[in-house]
Amino acid sequence: MYCMGNRTTTDTFWDESAETLSYDELENLQLTRLKKIVERASRSEFYGGRFAEIGLRADSISSLDDITKIPFTSKQDLRDSYPYGLLCEPKDRLVRMHVSSGTTGQATAVFYTRTDLEVWADLLARCMYMTGARPGDTFQNLTGYGLFTGGLGFHYGAERLGLLTIPSGAGNSKRQIQIMRDFSTSVIHIIPSFALLLMDVITELGIDPRRDLSLKIAFVGAEPYSEEVRRRIEDFYGIKVYNSYGLSEMNGPGVAFECRCQDGLHLWEDAFLVEVVNPETLKPVPEGTYGELVLTTLTREAMPILRYRTKDLTRIIPGSCSCGRVHKRIDRIRGRSDDMFIIKGVNVFPIQVEQVLMNISEVGNNYVIMLRREKNLDEMVVRVEVTDRIFVEDMRRLQQLQRKIAHELKGELLLTPKIELVEPNSLPRSDGKATRLIDQRTT
Ligand code: ADP
Ligand code: ZN
Repeated sequence: MYCMGNRTTTDTFWDESAETLSYDELENLQLTRLKKIVERASRSEFYGGRFAEIGLRADSISSLDDITKIPFTSKQDLRDSYPYGLLCEPKDRLVRMHVSSGTTGQATAVFYTRTDLEVWADLLARCMYMTGARPGDTFQNLTGYGLFTGGLGFHYGAERLGLLTIPSGAGNSKRQIQIMRDFSTSVIHIIPSFALLLMDVITELGIDPRRDLSLKIAFVGAEPYSEEVRRRIEDFYGIKVYNSYGLSEMNGPGVAFECRCQDGLHLWEDAFLVEVVNPETLKPVPEGTYGELVLTTLTREAMPILRYRTKDLTRIIPGSCSCGRVHKRIDRIRGRSDDMFIIKGVNVFPIQVEQVLMNISEVGNNYVIMLRREKNLDEMVVRVEVTDRIFVEDMRRLQQLQRKIAHELKGELLLTPKIELVEPNSLPRSDGKATRLIDQRTT
């Protein structure tokens, strides 16, 4: 019904008609799909009840602006209706379930029909094709398989595209590197914290990634990372890194993705309706202004989610992209609104700390921010791995580097954190998303 996967004859687009239609055509398509999805959503217990209360029906929607008639859906709504409250299909039409990683609390369950999985695989094939991945490439998927959407999501997208797909999963650094060498892996999917960790292991093994590996492209996402981390990964491996954004509530990865221009992530507007709102007033912000991303699934059968408040902060990049795709671009995610912390009256996002750290060459590939309260005074401690033990063993160098980092951070944050330098590879690592912030203050 929602077929999007017609290979075209040109070598630029996976699905030329879906990627380059005119914006008017795209809006017409969105309106048709929005009406249908409102109708479909009303079959669920959650939306059915909600729409009945406010008298909303599919024919209440006559233009895209009417989306504001639909109430927002929050993560809490999904938790309250766990596990089946948003289902719009009988159980015998469901073929898959995933859950969100649960980064910010209790996980939420998402269900898929066969068509949902087809559409998802097509969207991911479109993403990967856009960056230049092609049949003949070996694709190693270094993310967790299982409940996390990043594993199976990319897996089926890559097979749809025709890549030789290796489901190597998360962790197991040395084995991952061995697989890369044995099978000349050219394309990888990896979360940023693992890409950084793997750099240290590759260096320890005495491998020169540019000489000894065949990597060309990495899809990197699932957690926030800075432009500085992208540069580090690109420089080290000698590859192109493309930012990959998604969330399980909207299938998983494949919601927005960078093209070869690496200037923002195209958000597939034929599958998702995008809004950016002020997180306090919930009013739309002008194009180009940062706010909270709000997404509506336009094609999902099993579990439509309308006006979902992602908590992710980004902006629409004004203007069109030179690649020729009409789909609007969002900027790199700054973080979730809940990631922001307030220390000594200053608002800070962990990503701001990362940007500064990753620009300092003596700083290694792992760090953690700790917030403590002692005698009613808040303290921010940044614990940083260094590239070389010399910086922690030589007191003079240690102090010099501590001062340098503190100074640079003060320039960005307007407060001076305490800096603790630790040896390379000494901070805890996880196989999943990294924990960059530990708040030990009890409020
Ligand atoms: P959880 O919300 O429990 O982490 P998900 O696995 O569904 O569950 O993760 C989706 C979230 O991951 C997004 O809402 C966003 O905060 C983050 N994320 C995904 N991709 C990116 C990316 N490229 N940049 C920044 N953050 C990302
Ligand atoms: Zn583009």
